[in-house]
Amino acid sequence: MRPSPALLFALACLAGCGESASYDLLIRGGTLIDGSGAPRRVADVGVRGDRIVAIGDLADGVAARTIEVEGMIVAPGFVDLHTHLDPLLRLPSAESHVRQGVTTALGAPDGGGPLPLGDYLDEAEALGLGMNVAFLVGHNSVRRAVMGLENRAPTAGELDEMRGWVARSMGEGAFGISTGLKYLPGAFSELDEVVALSRVAADSGGFYTSHLREEGIGRTPGLSLIDGVGEALEIGRRAEIPIVLTHHKVVGQPLWGAAATTLAMVDSARAAGTDAMIDQYPYTATYTGISILVPAWAQADGPDAFAERFEDAQLRDSILADIEWAIINDRGGNDLSRVQFARVSWDPTLEGRTLRDWAEREGLDPTPAVGAQLVVEAMRRGGASAIYHALDEADVEAIMSHPFTAIASDGRLTQPGSGHPHPRWYGTFPRVLGRYVRDEGVLELEEAVRKMTRLPASRIGLPDRGRLEEGAFADIVVFDPQTVRDRATFQDPHQYPEGIPWVIVNGAVTVDDGRFDDVRPGRVLRRGR
Ligand SMILES: [Zn+2]
Repeated sequence: MRPSPALLFALACLAGCGESASYDLLIRGGTLIDGSGAPRRVADVGVRGDRIVAIGDLADGVAARTIEVEGMIVAPGFVDLHTHLDPLLRLPSAESHVRQGVTTALGAPDGGGPLPLGDYLDEAEALGLGMNVAFLVGHNSVRRAVMGLENRAPTAGELDEMRGWVARSMGEGAFGISTGLKYLPGAFSELDEVVALSRVAADSGGFYTSHLREEGIGRTPGLSLIDGVGEALEIGRRAEIPIVLTHHKVVGQPLWGAAATTLAMVDSARAAGTDAMIDQYPYTATYTGISILVPAWAQADGPDAFAERFEDAQLRDSILADIEWAIINDRGGNDLSRVQFARVSWDPTLEGRTLRDWAEREGLDPTPAVGAQLVVEAMRRGGASAIYHALDEADVEAIMSHPFTAIASDGRLTQPGSGHPHPRWYGTFPRVLGRYVRDEGVLELEEAVRKMTRLPASRIGLPDRGRLEEGAFADIVVFDPQTVRDRATFQDPHQYPEGIPWVIVNGAVTVDDGRFDDVRPGRVLRRGR
């Protein structure tokens, strides 16, 4: 009878436990990609406790558990710079993320996120988590707490109060500040306010990440994607804060091709000393609330105020004209079949169906004007979220190829059967490895891994994650470069990916030969601790 690995380990311990040749976990025979961009090499990885303690030829090593991974890639666990972690307290195992190979996710993007942050982090910690989480402080959350949904500049006192919230959140462990200047109430803020609050985050060593004020051609003169990028770069310069243009994209056909301009802007800002970078999800469709098609001024002070404005004939015409414009030139993609409902609490039969389907069901002509009426109807019934097929593949590839673009999901934690999500919630990281590396050759594998690991970890400020090195945390993903792929589609989104048989978080195996184990080895990460 062959001795079991555990017995071997015990014998090794008798012979001198704690010597360098004994490990809790040995990952043997794989091809390492360490996250730095360096070429792959064959090597074993030895883990003790929550750390990587040896890399190299560890043939003599004895371990409590050995995983043979010949032919597989062994990489640092993926670090997701843009995650909607809102359901974390309900879905603490984070399976939809962990099964993509994500071991650390950054929450509270787009200006959102919990306040007070410290209490929330304590609650999450007590539950136990499937992956590591870090958080930002969201400008919209802060502004809403202090000023509600009022469409005006803050008083000096209100600005001080907002500064206080940012400072407090940074003290409680936030890694930076996020804004969502296209959303409420961030859309009502001017540049100076955002710079002032970003300075507070910068003083604590934080960074700035922004859903830009505009991502398409823009109906207001001087307010397009190009201006939105310019504003974020100016915030970086004036607040002296590292920035991220998050989920960077070019929305709407009239502006397709503009990635060349925005990437050049990033390059020249970097050359001038602003520490600017980008993150991106690998799809040609966006996802957000249907209210994104509705002008912000019409939504000031909340749903009742919106309904009231809509009773006024003049305002109603103006609101409808703005929505119709957005359907033609912006996220609507000039075709009602490009707006696909995702979550519709008041009529789940619309989930997965399009604005065009809805128009036809009502016996209406699927024109942009009819689409605008239906968007207002959706708003009046309590809103909805939708997928907008309004990006161009060439822009996606140009942005992905930029050396300072990280891969990030912009996904929300989910589970099968819940609404009709964007497939990025399940498939972002394997899609890049399968489609964009293996099938299309847009990225080299080493470069793709760097964009998923060290690049985002460095931006958050996690020096011992996002890398395979002795001494680093044992956050590790093992995938098969021949088979890794996303399976979630726009038609059938609730699909876990393939080809990612092992995921290890802080030394604990949580995806084990393809099976998810709810062992909760994740940690709440707090800046400075
Ligand atoms: Zn966003």
